[in-house]
Amino acid sequence: MPSFPLLFDLGARKPTTREIADRVKSGGTAALTDADRRADEARYQEVVCRSALNPVKGMPFNWTLNPYRGCTHGCQYCFARRYHVQFEMDSDDEFASVILVKRNFVEVLARELDKPSWTREHVAFGTATDPYQPIEGHYKLSRRTIEALARGRTPAGIVTKGPMVVRDRDVLADLTRVAGVTVYMSVPTVDEDAWRILEPGTAHPLQRLRAVRELVDAGINAGVLMAPIVPGFSSSRGKLERTIKAIADHGARFVGCNVMYLQDGTRTHFMKFIAREFPAMAPRFERLYVKKYPPDWYRKEIQGMVRVLQDRYGVSPRGGAQQTPEPDTAAEPEQVGFGW
Ligand code: SF4
Repeated sequence: MPSFPLLFDLGARKPTTREIADRVKSGGTAALTDADRRADEARYQEVVCRSALNPVKGMPFNWTLNPYRGCTHGCQYCFARRYHVQFEMDSDDEFASVILVKRNFVEVLARELDKPSWTREHVAFGTATDPYQPIEGHYKLSRRTIEALARGRTPAGIVTKGPMVVRDRDVLADLTRVAGVTVYMSVPTVDEDAWRILEPGTAHPLQRLRAVRELVDAGINAGVLMAPIVPGFSSSRGKLERTIKAIADHGARFVGCNVMYLQDGTRTHFMKFIAREFPAMAPRFERLYVKKYPPDWYRKEIQGMVRVLQDRYGVSPRGGAQQTPEPDTAAEPEQVGFGW
């Protein structure tokens, strides 16, 4: 097995994600002996990437950017949980506690954006992990990514639950001027119980909404995704109304919504979580999630309720070509829900 350098030894070679997957496969995450354990108890493994722009199909955009993999926000419903198995890690604790940091991400992106063949298509930033999770305060990869996009005159949509995005309003304003950018702040609900239970590592929902206001005040096109609405936790009419009112009160330019969907490792994780923490709810989730989405009638009912509330509080529905779903929403049709 090759030996790997200590963290922060900038002159030494970092492993690739494939090498990390091979090491985990043979020795588990304990084999990541050069991963840095920080005060948040998560471990951060620096890697090098060969490409930054990731081509995708079947989405409202053709390219995604993700400088980190794994997310310490640790949302129970996160659909990106299932992607961690690509690195031979599980979609439970390891998704939220072993984070891969693509140390050379911005340099690789800058080269890609410089190519004459790059046509400056819209890119979706933060589709498989949150670009403003706490470690961004240290690495600043997301800030430097926005700077690179501005230099490359490339429009983007950014999805996050991290109020830290406000730190970068200066470079977001630059990108707004040269190419355009939309910030989608994910605030599924302002209900504190649902927040504590479902999104244990995130900032308070009202802190996220204050970030939206600051971005809008700085001239950035920023709005809110209520994504995902989780049946039984954030789907009641009262909770939807409180959330949409708060979103409107904070000056969001738009609001969109999705009902939770469950697939593969995310489904496994979520159902285990419900069975362990809320066993009385388990049979209802089993009935509602026979497929990866709840039935159409349920989704339409919630969607209709949200539309009524959007009209009532005067906040625009999500729209336009620059739509960027986040890891908990994917590129599925918009939906919403109340009651169960
Ligand atoms: S839903 Fe977003 S913020 Fe939550 S764990 Fe997934 S990537 Fe992180």
